[in-house]
Amino acid sequence: MNKFEEELKKGNFITSECHKCDKIVWPPSEYCDNCFGNVNWRKISENGEIIEWSKKGSDVFCIAEFEKTIRIMGKLNTKNTDAKIGQHIQLSECSFNQGYRFIFM
Ligand SMILES: [Zn+2]
Repeated sequence: MNKFEEELKKGNFITSECHKCDKIVWPPSEYCDNCFGNVNWRKISENGEIIEWSKKGSDVFCIAEFEKTIRIMGKLNTKNTDAKIGQHIQLSECSFNQGYRFIFM
């Protein structure tokens, strides 16, 4: 397990970031993909936006974007049967158990 997965397991959604290059390093990595320097880790904003979504039975799955950079796939916990592209969502739950698990609301 890498640091990202370890923290995810505890319910923390974090990203690596390079202060030298002033950029988010995503997918998360121990090293900056630009200057190969060490990264810093920090929490990601819980406010995201739907980029794409689809329905499987009564479940809505979507790709959501956070901080205009970080894209993850998760399940939308909604009473509405439809989602909208550009809709604002919030990360309500995340975990790691063999795979990533994200729940949006
Ligand atoms: Zn860098």
